[in-house]
Amino acid sequence: MSESGAVGVSGPRESFSRLFKADRVQPEMAAASILIVDDKPELLNSLYQLLLLSGYEPDKALGGTEALDALGRKQYDVVLLDLIMPGVNGHDVLDFAEAQKLNCKIIVVSGDSSFSGVKHALRCGAFDFVKKPYEAGELIATMETALRQCKLENQNRLMADKLEKSEELHRFIVNTSPDLVYMLDRNGCFTFVNDRVESLLGFSKEELIGRHYTEIVDEDHLDDARSVFNERRTGERAARNIELKFRSRLTRRGPRLFHAQSLWMELTAEGVYSDSNERTRENFVGTYGTARDISERKEAEEVINFQAYHDLLTHLPNRALLKDRLSLAITHARRNKRKLAVMFLDLDRFKLVNDTLGHTMGDRLLKAVANRLQSCLRQGDTLSRFGGDEFTLLLPEVRTKDDVVVIASKILDRLNSPFVIDGHELFVGASIGISIYPEAGDSEESLIQNADIAMYQVKGRGKNGYQFFSEEMNHKFSTRLSLERELRNGIAQSELLVYYQPQVSLQDGHITGVEALVRWQHPERGLIEPAEFLPVAEETGLITQIDEYVQKQAFADLSSWRNSGFRDVCVSVNLSSTQLEQEGFVDRFVGAMKSAGLMPEAVKLEITENTLMRDMEVIIPKLKELRRLGVRIAIDDFGTGYSSLSYLQQFPIQTLKIDRSFVCDIRADQSDASIINAIVAMARGLKLDLIAEGVENRTQLRYLYSQGCSEGQGYIFSKPVPADEIEILLKENPFEAMIRREQLESATV
Ligand code: C2E
Ligand code: MG
Ligand code: MG
Repeated sequence: MSESGAVGVSGPRESFSRLFKADRVQPEMAAASILIVDDKPELLNSLYQLLLLSGYEPDKALGGTEALDALGRKQYDVVLLDLIMPGVNGHDVLDFAEAQKLNCKIIVVSGDSSFSGVKHALRCGAFDFVKKPYEAGELIATMETALRQCKLENQNRLMADKLEKSEELHRFIVNTSPDLVYMLDRNGCFTFVNDRVESLLGFSKEELIGRHYTEIVDEDHLDDARSVFNERRTGERAARNIELKFRSRLTRRGPRLFHAQSLWMELTAEGVYSDSNERTRENFVGTYGTARDISERKEAEEVINFQAYHDLLTHLPNRALLKDRLSLAITHARRNKRKLAVMFLDLDRFKLVNDTLGHTMGDRLLKAVANRLQSCLRQGDTLSRFGGDEFTLLLPEVRTKDDVVVIASKILDRLNSPFVIDGHELFVGASIGISIYPEAGDSEESLIQNADIAMYQVKGRGKNGYQFFSEEMNHKFSTRLSLERELRNGIAQSELLVYYQPQVSLQDGHITGVEALVRWQHPERGLIEPAEFLPVAEETGLITQIDEYVQKQAFADLSSWRNSGFRDVCVSVNLSSTQLEQEGFVDRFVGAMKSAGLMPEAVKLEITENTLMRDMEVIIPKLKELRRLGVRIAIDDFGTGYSSLSYLQQFPIQTLKIDRSFVCDIRADQSDASIINAIVAMARGLKLDLIAEGVENRTQLRYLYSQGCSEGQGYIFSKPVPADEIEILLKENPFEAMIRREQLESATV
């Protein structure tokens, strides 16, 4: 059946005039893309004209095939479609549009107004139906309805698109945020967490949803967490920068000091309300916020903090921390009327290890010492390293001195057994000074300083022991300090002099040698004896400078005596342990001798028993080396120390020098001076020479001679005198006559 009807059949005039008003068509409507389809060219054209007049610019398709082609090429808003066409008809076009999911609105314009045709068309997705012959106004109205709808749908689609994009963007931002983003319901259970939770804490998002926040908070921080995760405030007043520890399932690599299973986080939290204008209890939905990983910052802070207050070698508290704790302990003790003790501990012989075995060994020894010391402490005591080989101990709870004695003895005892490091057996003792609050001071400084002073007393007494501070030490100390200052100055100003005391053969009275003895010519105080300044020189290490000075001078003087004809005379020099222990001592000593042009045989060393016993392992090889070169060695002050026969045999010595105190004991009425006899017997057994010091009278001289002592030194011959007087003695040699006389007299007695 052919379709009939044409444009304008029913009153096209008024329609035209109405439609002619160009402003009737909104510009975006006019821009709409419209396709008209009809197999009849005249109908197609009249429809075309109608739309043109209405302000539209449709495309035309003559028949179904062209229509499909056009639809395939271009997107149309509205299609005005004839149904009955030969070949590809309107239904085919509808099917095509549906199959292709085209978004256009199809208005069927057809003469077939049968119910089934219309129904089929509508079922196939036609938007509306206009029956031919159409009334122009109706057709345009229908088309415009379709256009409006199309526009609306387009707008919606655009909006939905935009929304979806923005939601995606937000999701992306939230999930790739370096911070954890969370939301809790009003009971504190998670309703949202972003992806970050997995890489941060090792929990999956799914398992956290519905779980309570306490499950991820470190036990020690639950109290703080409660207030944050129940935040109801919003905006400015809400919680910010709250630092908490979270539990993590991930093990982190971090400094040893830190707990790997927890993370420091910085949190924000604010209340969320169902109606943001009405923040009531009922409207409270939960808490929202973020949490940032601040572990690195925290760790850095902790490291810095640790370094500021600890010694990095031993990890013990340092001086600053000890002072802090001491000041606290003093406040406490003052309030409770209690005592406290400060111990100042200085290792004996540490320097030796450091100098001879190197710093690495020294460091290891210090660590081992720190460990042993720590094992002597009670809870609450603070052991700190003050630097070098000095440790300070704070005992905040002591009742009596005896409490402290127990600990000091324990420490000395523990340090007594050797430390074995790298196969070396190392012996270190300790000198401990103790000050007790309030007797020995009531401030940190005074307690530490006084313990230090007391420690020096122990060092002066021969080390390895403890000593409580007493007021009189303070007086000594004040002169000690000034003495040290003046001595330094004196050395610099060449105020030291070398005196000599002759050593005389008891066989024939000739001067075998002289002992070099230091004096200090003080500009105001006159000539000072060594006993007054040598202890301070020992403590401060100045002794080495003094010894080296004395030796240089003595070698020079001896050299000049020898050059002026006294070829056999020798010089004896006293050695301090400090000098002996020094690295390179032997080379320096021999160098000094050589540069004075002396043979080693011209020099005798005097070393006290105690010096020898102190560091046998270090000293013996040095003495052996000197002995090998020809230097002779005497034990000074023999009989006052602790040396046993078995020890003596290990030393490369030739001479025993009988201490003055034994010589002093020899009286006229005494038939046997048992100690002297024993020493004489011992010397004979070991094939050692004997020299007696402090010989002041003839009784002593005779007795020593009768016992077979080969040499003597003392006031009976001469006091120590300056070099030029020795020269006179050497020339005049007054002792030969004296000895001869004594020998004669004792022979006749
Ligand atoms: P020492 O090595 O035992 O020296 C002997 C000391 O006895 C000297 O004291 C000497 O003056 C004193 N003396 C000698 N004969 C008699 C006597 O008949 N009666 C009495 N009462 N005393 C006598 P001085 O010079 O005061 O030296 C004391 C100590 O100082 C020395 O004892 C020595 O250990 C040390 N000393 C002296 N000069 C030096 C030195 O240059 N270096 C080192 N390291 N120590 C030195
Ligand atoms: Mg001597
Ligand atoms: Mg002596």
